[in-house]
Amino acid sequence: MTEQLSGKVAAVTGAASGIGLECARTMLAEGAEVVLIDRAAERLEALCEELGPKAHPLVVDLLHGPQVDAIATGIEQLVGPVDIFHANAGAYIGGPAAEGDPDAWDRMLNLNINAAFRSVRAVLPDMIERKTGDVIFTSSVAGVVPVVWEPIYTASKFAVQAFLHATRRQVAPHGIRMGAVLPGPVVTALLDDWPKAKMEEALANGSLMQPKEVAEAVLFMLTRPRGVVIRDLVILPNSVDL
Ligand code: NAD
Repeated sequence: MTEQLSGKVAAVTGAASGIGLECARTMLAEGAEVVLIDRAAERLEALCEELGPKAHPLVVDLLHGPQVDAIATGIEQLVGPVDIFHANAGAYIGGPAAEGDPDAWDRMLNLNINAAFRSVRAVLPDMIERKTGDVIFTSSVAGVVPVVWEPIYTASKFAVQAFLHATRRQVAPHGIRMGAVLPGPVVTALLDDWPKAKMEEALANGSLMQPKEVAEAVLFMLTRPRGVVIRDLVILPNSVDL
């Protein structure tokens, strides 16, 4: 433990699993107080018990607007004003556009786009007032490369990149830094929805990463000296047939 985030309050959405959980673990190991946000209440409570006294559960359904709007207040009541907000939660749908289930698309777009933006909106006013803060998005390589076999997911992550790039310049004069980590495929529950053939191909050619690799990239971004702009970081394993 090097305590690089000592004294910081961090919050991570989608923290009960996969990339969010590993990012929360890494922030805790670096000395931050961490609010883990997820809708999976039981799992979240159990994880926070295991992670120790600096891990705080905040049960939020990110598809419920008023709960999202209350995120900043919820974090502050648990541990204090948030310094680092990681909008990480997301879902995945692959497959051809013509065969898509539009209701499932709505749910995914609401989570990947609306909930991400709305949660960031909830934390920004206090960061602006305090003239400090870091906001990280978990985007995807599918946010910069249109992936033929997952058009709706790709569209959602392009939207994240667009929001980030437009907002980053608005908030920079207030001392707030924003950036995104854009991973290729990472071994998490999210890949359960990948087409089986793609999974086999990726496993065979070493195209999958571990959540820890993403968490280390996020830590790199967060530990840039204050005043240094956070850049977006694409992290890729071996090539995948996109
Ligand atoms: P995951 O499925 O392991 O974790 C997602 C978490 O989000 C879960 O804990 C789930 O309970 C939570 N969640 C889902 N809906 C929610 C809601 N309505 N309210 C609150 N919490 C909710 O997935 P992951 O792979 O860790 O994905 C995290 C992020 O990384 C996503 O934005 C995803 O798009 C992105 N990403 C993943 C990969 C990958 O290959 N796994 C690659 C690039 C980007």
